[in-house]
Amino acid sequence: MQTPPFNDYLGVEIVRNSSGVAEATIELGPHHLNLRGVAHGGVVTGLLDSVLGAAVISAIPDDWWCATTSMSTQFVDGAGAGKLIGSGRVTRFGRHVAFASGEVRDSDNRIIATAQGTWHLWPQRPDMPRTATSGAVRMRGGTQTIRVGKILAVGRNYAAHKREMGTAPEEPPVEFLKPATALVPGGGLLRIPTTAGAVHHEVELVVVIGKAGRAITAERALDHVLGYAVGLDLTLRDLQSEAKQRRGPWDVAKGFDGSAPVSEVVPRDEIGDGSGLEITLDVNGKRRQSGNTSQILHGIPELIAHVSRWMTLERGDLFFTGTPAGVGPIEPGDEVVARIERVGKLTVHVIADDVLT
Ligand code: MG
Repeated sequence: MQTPPFNDYLGVEIVRNSSGVAEATIELGPHHLNLRGVAHGGVVTGLLDSVLGAAVISAIPDDWWCATTSMSTQFVDGAGAGKLIGSGRVTRFGRHVAFASGEVRDSDNRIIATAQGTWHLWPQRPDMPRTATSGAVRMRGGTQTIRVGKILAVGRNYAAHKREMGTAPEEPPVEFLKPATALVPGGGLLRIPTTAGAVHHEVELVVVIGKAGRAITAERALDHVLGYAVGLDLTLRDLQSEAKQRRGPWDVAKGFDGSAPVSEVVPRDEIGDGSGLEITLDVNGKRRQSGNTSQILHGIPELIAHVSRWMTLERGDLFFTGTPAGVGPIEPGDEVVARIERVGKLTVHVIADDVLT
């Protein structure tokens, strides 16, 4: 005999919405009751597990999976007939964990039990190959990971973006660094600050260094490139504008946690020198940025030669190469899809960083 799904077996009917809140009910029958004629503890716990889990599922991307790792139930009262109504809500997200709480009430609105639990989150089905581990990027189509060192970036490297930022054409490009903790490998759930003004998207071709070197010549620069990836140079634009006004550094505006989502890496052999690639970014299905890497003002060999005069490049260093025009704000609830021809696609689902709210 085939076992019915857990919720069917228990008789749970789930009413779910899309904001991390769920409701579910059970119509109590004789088989739900214990010898004293009240709903069995396992039935109440099962209802709570179902409804809190449904709340978590409603708040994560469709292709993510979750599993209960712990749940604590407090039994308050008993109910022997009628409907039991469960409510669940997500109280907090970590990068790979969700916290949820809820309660069960009877038809007279009396609380029967309360619960709190934790859910482990996977950005893919558990039986699929794992995406990159934290602090590392993954080669496309394989299991090889590359631990990320420093993240270099160049700004003002497309003429149209310089114009939209009000930067004079003769202004030189600007180099900056992001810490490795800014990395979000493979995209997925992206937490952004919501208390420091606008967070802007900047889609960029990312160069991944494979061979260490110092004072590398432009002619030899591509020998040091392991591959390419799609990246987002997320920017706290208001903080950056303030920093520009007081001629201060951009470290926080450019290096906050989550400011560097990066896709899987495609080997250099498949891409060449990185020029001539269409580069786009969509927010909720609407095109925001569109360009071609041939519009880059200072090409990849030139950038590597320039920076390696001052900083030794090491395997696992990343180099963000600048963004085309069309930058703009993203907000919790947005789906951002960045694409670079032949390199690939990077998708992030934006949520608020609850550490800061
Ligand atoms: Mg940028």
